[in-house]
Amino acid sequence: MTFKELGLIEPLLKAIKDKGYIKPSPIQEQAIPIILEKHDVLAGAQTGTGKTAGFTLPLLQILSKKESNNTKPEIRALILTPTRELAAQVAQSVDDYGKYLPLKTAVIFGGVGINPQKALIRKGVDIVIATPGRLLDHIEQKTIDISHVEHFILDEADRMLDMGFIRDIRKVLALLPSHRQNLLFSATFSDEIKKLSDGILNKPKLIEV
Ligand code: AMP
Repeated sequence: MTFKELGLIEPLLKAIKDKGYIKPSPIQEQAIPIILEKHDVLAGAQTGTGKTAGFTLPLLQILSKKESNNTKPEIRALILTPTRELAAQVAQSVDDYGKYLPLKTAVIFGGVGINPQKALIRKGVDIVIATPGRLLDHIEQKTIDISHVEHFILDEADRMLDMGFIRDIRKVLALLPSHRQNLLFSATFSDEIKKLSDGILNKPKLIEV
């Protein structure tokens, strides 16, 4: 199987080539076509499996399909991660894979000044990668609008629960449009994760690697 056979468009294939990847990893083979078809996904995957490309590549492709009319973009994809490090890592992947596409990204986490983040969001971004606490700070200050989100991704959901983010996640969920695509990634599946995923996902396709 090649990345091209998975249905990815040329700007993404070119970026993948720049990264030096020869072929898709097992999770990428499974996840990319399913996500491109806009299904919800429940994926069991550890880091190191290539899960980040598994969701960012199809996401970038879907987002790139809408004609740009030169107006300020709305936030159409929201990726939540448990830690700053992971947020920064996912943002780097989005930048790398999306380098030949005209999409704008903001990464939002605590421990750094909020004003540069506000300025960036104000200009308009298509994709936000955030940790829950700082995202809620922006929401409370009305400096971010997540009411146009079409794709919601929860990365490392088990770590999110371990770190006590369940209430924050529920607050965010309550502000999202009900019609959206949801992707949930978790290395482990406790009863709590099952409960959370039941509440978020709509007829999910299951992926396990
Ligand atoms: P992840 O599991 O998403 O954290 O990715 C782990 C590492 O694998 C990252 O350094 C990626 O750049 C790399 N990677 C992702 N997909 C592939 C692939 N298809 N071939 C080779 N390396 C990859």
